[in-house]
Amino acid sequence: MNMRLYEQMVNAECYKLSMTSKQRAQLLVQKFSELYSEAHCELHYNSPLELLVATILSAQCTDVRVNQVTPKLFQRCKTVEDYASISQEELEVLIHSTGFFRNKAKAIRNTTATLLEKHAGKIPQSLAELSSLPGVGRKTANVVLSNAFNIHEGVVVDTHVGRLSQRLGLVQHHQPIKIEQDLMKLFPQEKWGILSHWLIWHGRRRCYARRPDCKGCELRDLCPSVDQPDIVY
Ligand code: SF4
Repeated sequence: MNMRLYEQMVNAECYKLSMTSKQRAQLLVQKFSELYSEAHCELHYNSPLELLVATILSAQCTDVRVNQVTPKLFQRCKTVEDYASISQEELEVLIHSTGFFRNKAKAIRNTTATLLEKHAGKIPQSLAELSSLPGVGRKTANVVLSNAFNIHEGVVVDTHVGRLSQRLGLVQHHQPIKIEQDLMKLFPQEKWGILSHWLIWHGRRRCYARRPDCKGCELRDLCPSVDQPDIVY
């Protein structure tokens, strides 16, 4: 390797490692906008209610699997009343292949019963109200608010967002709530929704949990974890 090229590489490496997380966040916004201009929620839904149900089903399950299950479910249950009145047994059969079907069926029935009881059958549009529904955590509430209502009170932190935020040197924490708070400080609020899609898309297409594709990664020049495939979060 000639000396000039070597110096350029060392300088690039030093720059990458000395960059603050804020600087890296700004560069990532540019990079991701170009890379994943079409990024969006990969769950299929036609209403806030359908998104709420699909997101509850997506816990510990792939979006692809959820999308295979929801057409029949959405055909059977069209309203909040339908979900609140369907029997536990029938709902379990409909959602069986998404895993944890007993808990998910219970969560969907309890949540929709609470919607009828306390919210006139409507999906509330605040993080506090949504996340207080039975079976609806902060992550699900953020997904619904952001994608169904374009309201960004927080950042969706799933396994991909958590892993990539750490690998990309954006956060120092492992707990989802702390990761979310750090991301909210680093990125402007209007980017909170699309940010989680960008990270999820990159996690699914390049930065896998095991053996990330660092060689082909478009973020090599920005990533402090590049070529360290042993790191598994
Ligand atoms: S360089 Fe490797 S670790 Fe960094 S974002 Fe890309 S795939 Fe992930």
